[in-house]
Amino acid sequence: MSTNTAESNIARGARLLIVGPPGAGKGTQAKRIGATFGIPDVSTGDIFRFHITHETELGLRVKAIVAAGDYVPDSLTNEIVASRLDEADAANGFLLDGYPRTLEQVHYLDALLEKKGQPLEAVIRLVADQEELIARLTKRAHEQGRADDTEEAIRHRQEVYLRETAPLVELYRERGLLIDVDGLGGVDEVGDRISAALQAAGIGSADSATLAS
Ligand code: ADP
Repeated sequence: MSTNTAESNIARGARLLIVGPPGAGKGTQAKRIGATFGIPDVSTGDIFRFHITHETELGLRVKAIVAAGDYVPDSLTNEIVASRLDEADAANGFLLDGYPRTLEQVHYLDALLEKKGQPLEAVIRLVADQEELIARLTKRAHEQGRADDTEEAIRHRQEVYLRETAPLVELYRERGLLIDVDGLGGVDEVGDRISAALQAAGIGSADSATLAS
């Protein structure tokens, strides 16, 4: 046993991506994985929403784009991720959630991580049926009132994902980094599947699968 008891059930850092269509539960699972590995969950969607809520200069620039379900320009998104990954808490790793979403973002991230000498270790893809996802998001719209959770914006985000982002997954598959996880089921059930898959890939410590909440 480690004398560092507070750290004993925390897996080592890791450099991960999580991808999946809007509504697949990425955000929820990303928070769990971040806690398990002791790494920041870097969600570009959360960063944009923070800026929009606080009416920063960036927030005002991206507000209409995000509300419509379109993608924020790559140059802006790339810059935000680069500066976030420069923060001290990302030194041991990170989980990127919602980035990269375009080929240009993939290339930018490749170059950035190469420069840092911190290659990705795995890309977790949550797989789920599209109609189920639309139903989930519509429910979330009623519960949370996110501005981009109107049915029209939800359908548009699914289309943009299928057109722009789904093809990128193939790139990561070719690199041998892709881990597919069934995203249908309860939060704990899906979380356990992710932990087991990461462990099977040799990422994380032996007890990471049993970490709950
Ligand atoms: P969801 O996956 O449920 O659509 P996110 O929180 O990941 O939600 O993203 C919300 C919105 O933020 C996107 O629809 C888009 O407008 C913007 N956004 C987030 N990440 C990116 C990105 N990597 N590139 C461009 N725009 C992004």
